[in-house]
Amino acid sequence: MGFVRNIEVEGRLSIPKEIRDRRQIYCGCEIIIKPEVGKLILSVSDSLNCIFCCDNTDLELVYFKGKIVCKQCLNIVLANATALKKIDETLDMENRNTNMIKMKK
Ligand SMILES: [Zn+2]
Repeated sequence: MGFVRNIEVEGRLSIPKEIRDRRQIYCGCEIIIKPEVGKLILSVSDSLNCIFCCDNTDLELVYFKGKIVCKQCLNIVLANATALKKIDETLDMENRNTNMIKMKK
């Protein structure tokens, strides 16, 4: 017995997160629906999409930490990581300066 889901407004069907995670199905993934007598067969297309923007057109896709990401989104992620690192370093320096002032008192 599999998962039971109700058809939502406009015919939408949600795939349980457990299955999406296990099968690496992300937003934008192409799902092929094949109607057969008494059942529907869902299969995941071989087309790949960026995990963030769900796009696969005109964008170069790369693997990053096991996920598929377009270079445009990867640059945004890396820029944010660099910015966060700078904030951490600034806060760390401020904490050190504050501790030094406290020690002098
Ligand atoms: Zn992207």
